Amino acid sequence: MIPSNIKALILDMDGVIWKADAPIGDLPAIFKRIRERGLKFVFATNNGTKTPEEYKNKLSELGVEIDESQVVTSALGIAFMLSQKYPQGTKIFMIGEEGIKNALQEKGFEIVEITNAEEAEVVVMGIDRGINFQKIAEATLLVRAGKPFYITNTDRTFPTPRGEIPGSGAWVSIITTATGIEPIVAGKPFPYLMELSLERLGTKKEETLVVGDRLETDIQAGQSVGCPVAFVLSGVSTIEEAEKWNPKIDLIANDLAELVK
Ligand SMILES: [Mg+2]
Repeated sequence: MIPSNIKALILDMDGVIWKADAPIGDLPAIFKRIRERGLKFVFATNNGTKTPEEYKNKLSELGVEIDESQVVTSALGIAFMLSQKYPQGTKIFMIGEEGIKNALQEKGFEIVEITNAEEAEVVVMGIDRGINFQKIAEATLLVRAGKPFYITNTDRTFPTPRGEIPGSGAWVSIITTATGIEPIVAGKPFPYLMELSLERLGTKKEETLVVGDRLETDIQAGQSVGCPVAFVLSGVSTIEEAEKWNPKIDLIANDLAELVK
């Protein structure tokens, strides 16, 4: 199904590789096939809760061996973006989990505790399964006070085996509603993660296929940088939505296994 000019894949994870912890298809066989075809690949995910090492280990448990450098997360994206704008030691108030915390600390930023939130110069937000009213209130106060507001991604929901639960975008909407201020976004559909992925792959955009299950993030991001795009039906968006999508989607498959057949 994949055209012969394609040399590399940029793969989404949730809804393409797995749903929560349940693998979608026979992953070892799928990646054996990808390697046999000589396709390079990176994973690009808006989910910034895990580090590349944790994703490497999760994939290894599912029988797929990769290098850490093959994972690009929105947490890495946001840390890289900020490192180009702010000096090391800049104080950041963060709503998020380990993945984003590690990425920010690796770039030399200081994460302020909630008790010292007032000292923050920048606000960063991603999905946080320990979110609470106090965190939201502090972030709102800082954003209203004019501190720059960065978020990992705008995904409204997050897929689980039982259905969709609130994603980063749903939580961010509380702060945008309370402040009237829109954040700067690192993840898909904005092009930054795609550009980082292309840099890691070393392939041209025309020969790099972006694979995803969500139209308004994965497909839009791929199209925005000029890559061909493949939509899989194993995740969030539906075939009806995909057929209406403009510009037209290059490839549509039931899942990754069918795509690489
Ligand atoms: Mg997805």
